Amino acid sequence: MFPDYDFCNAEFNKYGLDLKESVYNKLSIYCNFLIEYNNYVNLTAITDPTDILYKHFIDSILIVKYADISESALIDVGTGAGFPSVPLKIFIPSLKITLLDSLNKRIEFLRKLCDKLEIDAEFIHGRAEDFSKRKEFREQFDISCARAVANLSVLSELCMPFVRTGGRFIAMKGPNEDLLKAQGAIKVLGGIVSCETNYKLENEERKIIQIKKISQTPTKYPRSSSQIKKKPL
Ligand code: SAM
Repeated sequence: MFPDYDFCNAEFNKYGLDLKESVYNKLSIYCNFLIEYNNYVNLTAITDPTDILYKHFIDSILIVKYADISESALIDVGTGAGFPSVPLKIFIPSLKITLLDSLNKRIEFLRKLCDKLEIDAEFIHGRAEDFSKRKEFREQFDISCARAVANLSVLSELCMPFVRTGGRFIAMKGPNEDLLKAQGAIKVLGGIVSCETNYKLENEERKIIQIKKISQTPTKYPRSSSQIKKKPL
């Protein structure tokens, strides 16, 4: 069972965040539905409700402490079971979210989840490198974000083409991400690192890297997935 409101609120408070009861109720529904659905569709390896609270919900929502994302149109690339964008949307209802994943079973889960939670979202089943070439998605978002999808060079090629000039790409990473290795890719794609924040989640090191888009991404990017894999920028 999902931990009770007082416990969750105290945990949010530890990170300087307040938990409204309406937000708690939605997170509780999310947790239960995730665990139930995960019995027959592989969505996450984290199945203990208290772990889900920390490793999925608080981890996702902590972005709001380090980056101003309210009122933004955000695309979550490789969203999986909705992380980080669905907890963020629950926490900040004014956020406009687009959920993209190459696995349809995950998108199907997200459609049902958002229906249950009565939250608006756009759903895309497909690969980032295909959809960011389409006019209706290219450079159309204030923010693209991703957690646990690929290394920063590869991720930049997948995420930066979605962002409008002046917008941001936010990468949620572990402590070992080598920013220096991705600097060349970020520059070629029209970005500049604006902020790197290190913090701890339950004693585990985390990092949020924010990349500002300062010029258009050249139209030859992203390349095909095989080229990206074979020769990362
Ligand atoms: N972001 C979620 C999280 O933090 O829990 C899911 C992470 S999971 C390890 C990576 C997800 O990215 C998978 O659901 C996978 O299908 C998706 N993915 C990987 N490469 C992708 C691509 N090129 N385009 C779209 N989705 C992709």
